[in-house]
Amino acid sequence: MKNADIQSLLFWYGGNKRDLPWRNSRDPYCIWLSEIILQQTRVDQGLAYYYKFVEAFPRVQDLAKAHLDEVLAMWQGLGYYSRGRNLHATALHVTEIGGFPSTYEALLKLKGVGPYTAAAIASFAYQEQVAVLDGNVFRVLSRWLGSHLPIDAASTRNEFQALLNQWIPADSPDIFNQSMMELGALVCTPKSPKCEECPLQNSCKANAEGNATNYPVKKTKVKVSAMALTYFELHVAGKVAFVRRSNNGIWAGLYDLPSCSTEQEMTIDEIVNQLRDWGVQGELEFCHETRHLLSHRKIQARFYKVLCEHMPSNEFQWITLNELKVLGISTLLKNYLEKRYTVVA
Ligand code: SF4
Repeated sequence: MKNADIQSLLFWYGGNKRDLPWRNSRDPYCIWLSEIILQQTRVDQGLAYYYKFVEAFPRVQDLAKAHLDEVLAMWQGLGYYSRGRNLHATALHVTEIGGFPSTYEALLKLKGVGPYTAAAIASFAYQEQVAVLDGNVFRVLSRWLGSHLPIDAASTRNEFQALLNQWIPADSPDIFNQSMMELGALVCTPKSPKCEECPLQNSCKANAEGNATNYPVKKTKVKVSAMALTYFELHVAGKVAFVRRSNNGIWAGLYDLPSCSTEQEMTIDEIVNQLRDWGVQGELEFCHETRHLLSHRKIQARFYKVLCEHMPSNEFQWITLNELKVLGISTLLKNYLEKRYTVVA
């Protein structure tokens, strides 16, 4: 990229950038928080969460002091719950070591902080001359270069990163990074890039070819697998059985109704056997069926209710729906419970 392109880009950014709260701060905590929230979340959705977190935990020390359940409950709806757990673990670690590290290399060692997030914090908070390469920047660069290299190959990442690191200006690394990301978010969008508004239009190869949406090229497609989830709402004496999901897999660490995941929908015989294994006795009632889509899973969920004759198993935690309000649960479960019980809403 020539200096004239970089200047046009920075000029465009000055006149078109969105006013986002973390852009007005050089506090590494605010920048880190915003970047973790935005890792797999749109800005308009992430904004509300950012405000909520900053208000509840104004400093990293406040976040470290919070209970993990409180953090996960606040994270509810953002998905990818490992991010919520990493957020809390990193806040504890940063507090222990006396504050955020101030270099790209040291930031990379934090849990949940990859090359992109480390570059964002290092350049926005500490003005380090290191380029960010997120999905938006990948798309802009792939089109601008007219590159047929697959963007999901490590070699392409290395090549793009090296180019950006050559171009990023020493006196405004933060603005350059923000400009590239903002261009991808507002102008060089995935489906309908507005090339006629783009500050790089005269030097862009894809624009010259008139085929911007053919880029970027990917070598693999995410496989979406089908999964049947059978949920059991087990009631005894005003309490409902919950389990805490393991720290691996979907909805890691969240509270959930006891459930079985299978490839095919469970038959009634299988359901009866499962309830017997848990020691559950009582009348089975079918309540609800719904579909839920995650990035790599298509879930068909069925919900059954049982008014148990006695408290059946030690492996469940028995809690009231009121208590559930402060615990983290998945969006799928929240939607279901909200339909049935106003107390959870
Ligand atoms: Fe993207 Fe079009 Fe700008 Fe090229 S000219 S970078 S394709 S918006």
